[in-house]
Amino acid sequence: MQRAGALRTRWYLAVGAALTVVAVAAPTAHQRDAAYGLACVMLIGATLVSKRRTHLNGPVAAAIIVAVASLAVGHSLRGLRMQAAMFGHSALELVGTVAMIVAAVAVVRRRPPTRVAATVVDAGVLALGAWLIGWIVFVRPIADAHGQTGATLAVDGLLGPATMILLCLVALIVFSRTKPRLALRMLGSALLVDVIGHTTTALVDAGHLATSFDRFGGACHVAAYVIAGGALMHWTAAEILSPTTQPPLERRLGRLVLTTSGLLVPVVVLAATTPHDNADHWVRIVSVVAIGCATMVRVVMSGRDTTETQDELVRGAQTDALTGLPNRSTLLAKINECMTAAWSDNRQPALYFVDLDRFKNINDSLGHAAGDELLVMVAQRLRAAVPDHATVARLSGDEYVVLEPGAGSAAAAMALADRLLGVFREPLAMSHGDVFVTASIGIALLSLRSSSTPEDLLRHADTAMYRAKDAGRNCVALYDESMHQRVAHRLSLETALYRALDREELRMFHQPILDLDTGDVEGFEALMRWRREDGTEVSPVEFIPIAEDTGTINAIGAWALLEALIQLRLWIDEGVCSSLATMSVNVSPRQLADPGFPAMVSEALTRAAVSPHQLWLEVTEGIMIAEPELALATLQRLRSLGVRVALDDFGTGYSSLSLLQRFPLQRIKIDRAFVLGVADNPNDRSLVRTIVAMGRSLDLDIVAEGVETVQQMQVLSDLGCKKAQGYLISRPVPAEAMRTTVAALERLSGVPGLRPPAGRPATSLA
Ligand code: C2E
Ligand code: MG
Ligand code: MG
Repeated sequence: MQRAGALRTRWYLAVGAALTVVAVAAPTAHQRDAAYGLACVMLIGATLVSKRRTHLNGPVAAAIIVAVASLAVGHSLRGLRMQAAMFGHSALELVGTVAMIVAAVAVVRRRPPTRVAATVVDAGVLALGAWLIGWIVFVRPIADAHGQTGATLAVDGLLGPATMILLCLVALIVFSRTKPRLALRMLGSALLVDVIGHTTTALVDAGHLATSFDRFGGACHVAAYVIAGGALMHWTAAEILSPTTQPPLERRLGRLVLTTSGLLVPVVVLAATTPHDNADHWVRIVSVVAIGCATMVRVVMSGRDTTETQDELVRGAQTDALTGLPNRSTLLAKINECMTAAWSDNRQPALYFVDLDRFKNINDSLGHAAGDELLVMVAQRLRAAVPDHATVARLSGDEYVVLEPGAGSAAAAMALADRLLGVFREPLAMSHGDVFVTASIGIALLSLRSSSTPEDLLRHADTAMYRAKDAGRNCVALYDESMHQRVAHRLSLETALYRALDREELRMFHQPILDLDTGDVEGFEALMRWRREDGTEVSPVEFIPIAEDTGTINAIGAWALLEALIQLRLWIDEGVCSSLATMSVNVSPRQLADPGFPAMVSEALTRAAVSPHQLWLEVTEGIMIAEPELALATLQRLRSLGVRVALDDFGTGYSSLSLLQRFPLQRIKIDRAFVLGVADNPNDRSLVRTIVAMGRSLDLDIVAEGVETVQQMQVLSDLGCKKAQGYLISRPVPAEAMRTTVAALERLSGVPGLRPPAGRPATSLA
């Protein structure tokens, strides 16, 4: 399509070029006029042919045709060189120009220029300048030469401004927001060439040029029509009237040069000529005043523009683009101000670090646009909840900070924090529907005794906010010194944990799991131990969550799994335990979320030469609630490997029955918290009874954790729980101690009630 169009356009332009040559070089006026007439017919043809493709609606196409027809007839009248014909020529040229203005306006309306007002004023300055030149150089001299008065002078006088308006419209198109495609540029050039043609004939009529230049003027018209026709036939013509998708374009320098010349040239022409008569004198004065006014308006606009741009830049640097709230740097400056004022006024500013809980879930499930909408709503609510003198800032993501310059006391600070929490009690009415969010808030009060910086205060509020998150979210925490120490301690653990594996500071301990019916050791749970360089032991309760947060858990967990399986293989081979013994390994949610996890498990089983059936993976319910689809997919893949999965710490969380039904689980481990009271507390006992009954009905294996006394073991056994682990049986021990541990436990098997042997502490059977 495009190719055929291009070929047609090329032919059209080639014929047009030949006509232009004829219009300049043909010896007789008839031949030149014939070329002119043909060019007009071709342009009308091109307009009709391309009407549909270029979206030229009826009035626009008609305007082009009227323009061409009137210009053509006007041209032929000019040749007659009679008074009436000259008037007809001018009048038709005016009609043609007005028709072209109509068409150009249609184009401009579809291509809105940048900074419309400024562009209009720029174009106005140009038009006025050109009008003044036109008046001095053409209109006045032509009127004198031909003795024009009245209607003819008025038509000629109007022709100048009309042409200028047309030029302005061309300028508007050129200054439009987007880069014009070829067809539009051709159309602009056609108008320009046409105006040059008119100028030439006007110069001839005014006696400034010899009549032989008429040919040149005529050829300009022919060329203009040919170019315009070519433009309409070109394939980019579709963009002339349709809104374009081209990137924005700023041409400030070009505009400046054009506008300044629009001022300069008339000044030069004014200086070089003298007024012809009184009327001429006044026309000049009025025109100069008009140009002066337009220029002044433009200067004022440009000044305002610069101030606005500057304000915009300053605002952009100080505020958060999404919510319009002050940003971090503005907040820090405000904290600084408050601190300085606090020393003199003895006031105590408070900083509230507000962080939305699980905002990532909203972004992930509803999309980023909804996330943004929510952030804006939260900003508005926080703003409405605090006193006018307080500042609400947004730091990044879902972090907001409120600065209250005169909170006064911890109690007052807590009161405002409660109000801030209250902001989230009502659902947020978003376009997706109502959404509930909660927030965790950390408060830091400026201590007038310590010399803290704004950054310190912000960090303290941040630390307190993390404390609130740790405390279960949707709550408030007030900063104190101990939090700082905790943070410092955690940071040192984080750093040391990165190297713990390489430095061989990690080890696996194992705790036997006993079959209460047979008294046999049915398996072991692998539990990680970390002895730091300086000899201090760090509990897994402390370091596993850090490894989770920092992501080191994937490497550490993979190491633990392989280590535990290799150990089991070794014990089986050495006869420490039965060849059917199992190994239970704890798995963190982050490991389960890793798509490569099942493959890693499979490889570890192969490397350790352990049957999948002998591996229990202990998972907690957290991931099944947070990311059920992901958890289900991973657990099913593990299941298909033949590996079994145990639900650890059962009873502490939601412990919903639906989890047990929905996920492929084969064991539940009753949490120590319930085992602790099973012998004495009827509530715990009935809970354990329920768990056991539920587990049995679902055909699940049940293990009780943390069995510490014989009574607990007895009750558990009576309730139908057939497997147990705990300090009563054995504490977690290093691998080398397992042979003696298992041997001691086997010696006890068959002893009624598994009573601890005389002389041994009641804390361990082994
Ligand atoms: P868990 O999986 O529930 O492990 C049982 C915890 O209870 C172990 O604590 C064990 O030493 C302790 N325990 C066993 N019997 C008794 C008892 O009779 N009384 C009392 N008071 N405690 C008993 P530990 O070794 O400190 O591990 C704590 C938690 O750390 C584990 O809880 C597990 O969630 C996690 N963990 C340990 N090792 C690993 C590991 O290799 N990977 C992962 N992801 N987590 C691990
Ligand atoms: Mg466990
Ligand atoms: Mg447990």
